[in-house]
Amino acid sequence: MKEVLLSHGSGERSMTQEIKQFAEAAGIDLFGIANLDHMNERARPGRRPKDLYPYAKSVMIFGCGMADPFCRGWTRNGKERGTFSLTLLELERRCRLFRRFFRERGYHTFGGEIYGDAVAGIGLRLAEAAADCGMGYVGKSSLLITPKYGPRQNLLALATDAVLEPDAGNPASQCGACTLCQAKCLSGAILGGGYFHARQCESVINAYPNKRYYNQNVNQDCDMCLRVCPKGELHWRKED
Ligand code: SF4
Ligand code: SF4
Repeated sequence: MKEVLLSHGSGERSMTQEIKQFAEAAGIDLFGIANLDHMNERARPGRRPKDLYPYAKSVMIFGCGMADPFCRGWTRNGKERGTFSLTLLELERRCRLFRRFFRERGYHTFGGEIYGDAVAGIGLRLAEAAADCGMGYVGKSSLLITPKYGPRQNLLALATDAVLEPDAGNPASQCGACTLCQAKCLSGAILGGGYFHARQCESVINAYPNKRYYNQNVNQDCDMCLRVCPKGELHWRKED
């Protein structure tokens, strides 16, 4: 029995190393393995990973930095009415790479859809799960703040039935006395004290007259909380 446990542990470690090396080689610079127990404890019943993906043994959180405001913005898809974001397209590509990685090794993946209910369906903010596995901290804007991109990244979760070792993290907020995002928020959604009114924000960013810029082919959301945050080595200042 002991031998079985030891060999299971070493398999877990080697698969964890392998997926991390794979992510690094693929240039996926925002990556962490979430603590599934923490996610199940914190999310609401019915929307926990164990409710949504009962066969999952691990959840990966990964992201894509927004290179500039255009990559963050929305572009109309030719003659069709849909719009897409270059950052989300790249995030989707990264998700496909992970799916293939696990499929080639005989494992399954669950979730990982960018559009539709999948992201909203997870009863836990991805920023919190990402901070919990050491990718950054949750700022006053309720966004994940990373050393490289500040708040300027999109995140995605992908569950798998492969057993991976979770990363530890959850560093304290480094916002200090800064309140720029709260002061500049157009909708008043950043309430302070860790409270964020998502619907209030959406009512602003989804309203075309409030977009920072829009025409029939391209539009950019309010995004003041992304623009004004001083954190992150890569900032949009120069692009603006
Ligand atoms: S996108 Fe604009 S309205 Fe929404 S939270 Fe950020 S600053 Fe506020
Ligand atoms: S703008 Fe300031 S308060 Fe808001 S998340 Fe960034 S560092 Fe924190």
